[in-house]
Amino acid sequence: MTTGSMTTMEVKKINRHNIYTFIYQQKNSSKQQIVDSLHISLSTVTQNLKLLEAEGLVEKAGYYQSTGGRKAYNFEIVKDARIAIGIDILKDRVYIVAVDLYGMIMEKCTQALGFLTNENYYQKLGDLVSDFIRNGNWEPDCLLGAGIAIQGIADEEGTSVNYGPILDNYGLHLSTLAQYIPCQCHLVHDSKAAALAELWHDKDITDAAVLFLNENMGGALIRDRKIYQGENLRGGLLEHISVDPQGELCYCGSRGCLETICSANKLRVLSGLTLDEFFQKLRGGDERLRGIWEGYLDRIAFAIRNLQVILDTPVIISGLLANYMTAEDFEELKTLVTKYAPFPFPRDFLLAGQYGPLAPAIGSALFFIDKWIQAV
Ligand SMILES: [Zn+2]
Repeated sequence: MTTGSMTTMEVKKINRHNIYTFIYQQKNSSKQQIVDSLHISLSTVTQNLKLLEAEGLVEKAGYYQSTGGRKAYNFEIVKDARIAIGIDILKDRVYIVAVDLYGMIMEKCTQALGFLTNENYYQKLGDLVSDFIRNGNWEPDCLLGAGIAIQGIADEEGTSVNYGPILDNYGLHLSTLAQYIPCQCHLVHDSKAAALAELWHDKDITDAAVLFLNENMGGALIRDRKIYQGENLRGGLLEHISVDPQGELCYCGSRGCLETICSANKLRVLSGLTLDEFFQKLRGGDERLRGIWEGYLDRIAFAIRNLQVILDTPVIISGLLANYMTAEDFEELKTLVTKYAPFPFPRDFLLAGQYGPLAPAIGSALFFIDKWIQAV
């Protein structure tokens, strides 16, 4: 093979990638739009579209009236030409989702399964995922892999946990955890996965802090549309910002971390109720619960005030509690943050997350979707 033909092949590959990703980003595009936007000849675009159609990656999607009165086709990508699985492992249950190439949920399930680091657990996890894949009836070739979101900091390669006091899973290796899962897997810290899901679906975000108000609190930072990792992969662990050195002991060993005052667990402990019961009674006008909830919002507001001072970015409220929060709760939170603000904050500093408790599972699946689209 000559150098010249190599270059031609590379150009072909780049054209194909650019045409596919253009249609992907536009969602719906005509041949002429591709020609005009990418400055590629009509014959090259036609040839590539034929190949992409033959591979089942692109499809015709309706007509539009082209100049000269002729009808021409629009093109879209085949959204489910590839799919990825996302698994979120929690102390007492597992969330599993399948997402398409746009990261939209196709199937989801929740299963009670107490986390343990033993063979029996790994087998049960593998069985759950295998059943989920079987029920989805997807072509074997279209499954890209399974992302696993876990409470614990995963290493850069996504192969092991190198900090995990919540599940006591320090040193847990992917090859052990995922040994019965019938596809390629990748491990990711649950908060970072959830931040990726929120980022993926909101193209307007450049920088943000994300607070996950889950049973355990989680946090992550988004900088320049990337999840901020820090030098030791511990960047953005907002839940361990300590606001009271004499406060309650956190699982990390420190006192007064945001985890000890802003986690959803805290609401359960203070009220003695499940979250469903808590919010049902709260909305029914229970005065005692109103007091607990207002105190909780007040502490979250104080945390957001401090984040705003350092970061000067929007704060996204996601996770379990975000699903229970009403527009009035968000307004109240905004008012409280403004009360604590040392200087005026912009009006729109507070955003509601889109995915609630499923954000980590979705985000973990996106690893495989993103990798595939980069390489197509
Ligand atoms: Zn802590």
